[in-house]
Amino acid sequence: MADKVQAEILSMFPDEVAVKPRPTWDEYFMEMAEVIAKRSTCLRRQVGAVIVDEKHILTTGYNGAPRGIENCLELGTCLRQEMKVPSSERHELCRGSHAEQNAITQAAYHGVKIKGATLYCTHMPCIICSKMIINAGIKRIVFKNFYPDDLAVQMLNESKIELILFNKKG
Ligand SMILES: [Zn+2]
Ligand SMILES: [Zn+2]
Repeated sequence: MADKVQAEILSMFPDEVAVKPRPTWDEYFMEMAEVIAKRSTCLRRQVGAVIVDEKHILTTGYNGAPRGIENCLELGTCLRQEMKVPSSERHELCRGSHAEQNAITQAAYHGVKIKGATLYCTHMPCIICSKMIINAGIKRIVFKNFYPDDLAVQMLNESKIELILFNKKG
């Protein structure tokens, strides 16, 4: 029945459907991660994360300072930037916690079980996030942009978490 109705609608608006293909689930959640990243307060890089299980969003996170704490954007500066720290080094110098960390701690805050879930992230997780992801019981990571962290890749492989580079078709 639904198929018949859909076929009828398609025949009425063939052009509309042709320009707007239906996104896959991976595309759908990755696009959300990119929207979430826009709330980032990091001066260097905007990262977004979504934790999903059985096609349902459990929690979200972007990189930014903890609740009630002034962030780098408000201060107009970041210690890492001032000290010219290279990418992927000395994360502790920034006020912000990473998108993945914020998505995981949001699960703790609301008492949401994320064991067995998938994490969609605009960037590949760093080593600190990777350790938390492993212990949170996340089973699959889909990321879009590569991030240089060999130890993170090594530990994620060792943990048997599925690490997938997002590849938008077409
Ligand atoms: Zn910062
Ligand atoms: Zn991280």
